[in-house]
This record gives sequence, structure tokens and C-alpha cells, in this order.
Amino acid sequence: MASKVKLTFLGTSAQIPTAKRNHSAILLNYEGENILVDCGEGTQMQFRKAGLNPCKVTRILISHWHSDHVLGLPGLLSTLALSGYNKNLYVYGPRGTKEFMRDLLKVFNFQKKYEIIVEEVNGGKFYDNGDFYLEAQKMQHGIPANAYSFVIKDKLRLDKKKVEKSKLPFGPLIGKLKEGKDITYEGKKYKSKDFVYGEKGKKISIVLDTLINEKIIPFVKNSDILITESSFSSENSVEAKEHLHLTAKQCGEIAKKSKSSKLILTHISQRYENNIKGLLDDAKSSFKNAVIAEDFDEFKI
Ligand SMILES: [Zn+2]
Ligand SMILES: [Zn+2]
Repeated sequence: MASKVKLTFLGTSAQIPTAKRNHSAILLNYEGENILVDCGEGTQMQFRKAGLNPCKVTRILISHWHSDHVLGLPGLLSTLALSGYNKNLYVYGPRGTKEFMRDLLKVFNFQKKYEIIVEEVNGGKFYDNGDFYLEAQKMQHGIPANAYSFVIKDKLRLDKKKVEKSKLPFGPLIGKLKEGKDITYEGKKYKSKDFVYGEKGKKISIVLDTLINEKIIPFVKNSDILITESSFSSENSVEAKEHLHLTAKQCGEIAKKSKSSKLILTHISQRYENNIKGLLDDAKSSFKNAVIAEDFDEFKI
């Protein structure tokens, strides 16, 4: 059985947090990995409220350095230091991230108790452990900004019952079957396809603050879950363009054209708090399987 990916929305507001919505932060959990995408103000408190342990974070992906996406970093990093965090923490972000991290650690007189490894990523795969990979794509938001994808690769799985029945000896021969190669044992031929089955991978894409642009659709193509910022509805499309943001309608169109399976809207402005349905309908006008994330919502695939 494939391991599940769990997404927890720790913050779903746009620039200004509200009583119901905290600044931007999404936690992606898969096996031993806890990948935090953005860390708005108060994110460490959101971890506590969600009953999650911030010390389990393995990597932080920063979409861009607007304050609503990063104000929680100094607090979270200090808490990790005080809590005996003893792993390497990987922080990835667009151009400028190394300089900003250096300045941030200096301003807050950060006592170095664990290693923070900062990498600037400007497009393409930047982490691959054989099972899954992380990919970035540059967006358009006035300052360097990235969208990210988390992709679990397609796999071949061994049908253990069939292997047991075959009485093949455990070892390299079975390894070959698993790799898709046919084998011969004691004069008899065994075909890989009789012993393995394919397991489809998964793709989760996260497109935060950006102006609509032609790079988005190819980057998020065939996502099982597509998460997008949705700062404006199409009624306010002029402002969306002016402030370099997406409208909910554009998010729906991206989901449809990219053949994604599910759309989750986040980065919700307080101006829509009393008309959330209107904002959602705007996206649904082109893509039906859309929801608006609330703080602490969880999604599993
Ligand atoms: Zn923002
Ligand atoms: Zn922004």
C-alpha cells in the first residue's frame, strides 16, 4: 500500500490575517518528511493548535519574501533551537533567499544550535530522493517568487503472494523481476509482468502569489491536488492584475486546462469573508471540483 500524503492548511489568509484565518502556511506530510510551504506570522502557534509538532519539520519552501509568507520564520527557527532540534533544516526559496536568511538570523541574534542549509531554487528539480522529488518554477509577482510541485514517482510493486507461490529464492533474481526484467531460474522463464504491478505516483502543486502567466499550466499539469492563491474574484480582475495576483476564475481555468483533479483555493482576502461562496463559484464556473481551504483543514491522498 502506498503511503498517504497529508496536507494541513495552517494559514489561509492573504496579506492581513483575520480572526479565522492566519497568514500563509501549508504543511505537507509524507512518510518521514514534513515540508512546510511558507511560514506566515503565527505559524508555530498554528502547529500547536493543530496538534502538530513543529520540530518534525524537515524542509521549508518559501514562495517569496512578502511578509505574509515569512514573518513566522524567526519564531519557528528559535523554537526549534530551544526544543533541541538536531537535524539539518533545509530552506529553499527564490533568488535572494540566502541573503534574507542571513540577515534574519543576524537581526534576531540566532544562537546556532542546528544546521540551516539554504538553497536558492529558480526552476527545475531541486531535490530527489528516488521516491519523490521537489520542483520549482519561477512566477511573476514583482519580486522573485516560485511555485512548487511535490511529485511521488510511478513505481513497480512486487506481488508478494505470487512470488511466494512461485518458490523463487529471495535475493537478486526477485530484485530483477521488480526492476521489470525477465529471469530464468532452473531452466524456467519468469516474466516480470506476471509478478509486478504499477503504482501510479502523485502530484501536488502549490502556486502562491503570482500574476497569471504561461508557465503555470505546463508546470502544474496533471496535478492530483492543485493549490492556488485566490486573492481576488474576477469582479476585481483589474486589481488582481495591478497587484500581480490570480483571480479565483483564473485558478479554475488553470485547474481545467492543466487537467488537475482537485483545486484548493487559499490566500483568501478578508474582503471576501462574507461572500466566500461567491469567490468559490467564480472558480467553479470553469472547474467543479474546487474548495476553499479553511485554517486547519486537512486533505489526504
Ligand atoms: Zn501573499
Ligand atoms: Zn506576495
